[in-house]
Amino acid sequence: MRCRKCSAKAIIRLPRHNTAFCPPCFSEYVTDQVQRAIKGDRMFGHAEGVAVAVSGGKDSLVLWEILSRLGYRTLGLHIDLGIGEYSRISQRKVEVFASARNLPFVVHSLRENHGAGITEIAEGVHRPPCSACGVIKRYNMNVIALQHGMPVLATGHNLDDEASRLLGNVLHWQDDYLDKQSPVLPNSHPKLVRKVKPLYRLAEREIAAWAVLQKIDYIVDECPNSVGSKMFVYKDALNRLEDAAPGTKHQFYFQFLDRQKARAQVSPIEPDLRECVSCGQPSTAEICSYCKLVGTLQREAEPALKVLK
Ligand SMILES: [Zn+2]
Ligand SMILES: [Zn+2]
Repeated sequence: MRCRKCSAKAIIRLPRHNTAFCPPCFSEYVTDQVQRAIKGDRMFGHAEGVAVAVSGGKDSLVLWEILSRLGYRTLGLHIDLGIGEYSRISQRKVEVFASARNLPFVVHSLRENHGAGITEIAEGVHRPPCSACGVIKRYNMNVIALQHGMPVLATGHNLDDEASRLLGNVLHWQDDYLDKQSPVLPNSHPKLVRKVKPLYRLAEREIAAWAVLQKIDYIVDECPNSVGSKMFVYKDALNRLEDAAPGTKHQFYFQFLDRQKARAQVSPIEPDLRECVSCGQPSTAEICSYCKLVGTLQREAEPALKVLK
């Protein structure tokens, strides 16, 4: 197998693009796809600071690496979810990565702020862990990024993440979620960051291969709370479709984006936002979902958590 660009020995085949690359040409392809996303979708410019949500997994560390190599001013944001050994290893990977490259980062610890990790918090508020985790992460990432003067928040979601999320949303016809599923969410309020996903043009296996080639040390384990998540079933289904017909994933997601762009031109989707009466952050309801969660936690769970401590 030869590289389609320079005919050196290829190390990766990309059936969906009907091509194969040697290590340097593959590396160039990966960087090009990220640059194409940033520029083509007008995600951010070099004058803006970009907060990068870093879990310690391959996607977020690859994203951070590429953005800093491209010369963007970045700040890593890590949420310590307080899930025992998994969280300790994740944070360690972020610390080692950042200090080797001299990159700044901030850690927000749930145990320090709520006296409990995400598993206990979710139990305390009677919600599935991934749902409570999503609310807490979204809220804190936004607040911390803006506190540090970063108007943009970049996350490591890749093509597989976006296509499987789309499949889930379509299977349940969740129109509200479909409206929000875009690689760029503009800040619809001065207290909100612009949310971007610069890796959406790259498949998970391409990112994993790039991480190995660049010797990026990341946490391989998935979050223990995500075991049994429907998202893995959707990813598996899409991978089977992809094997049978390369390019399926890409077409599914990119054709959705084309339709969404066409629809947005006819009737722009503007969320109806006001300020949460409790914390002042933008919200579609009187009390934001974060304050609701924290309120339930304080009323019902904190007395029990104090006993646990
Ligand atoms: Zn080559
Ligand atoms: Zn609030």
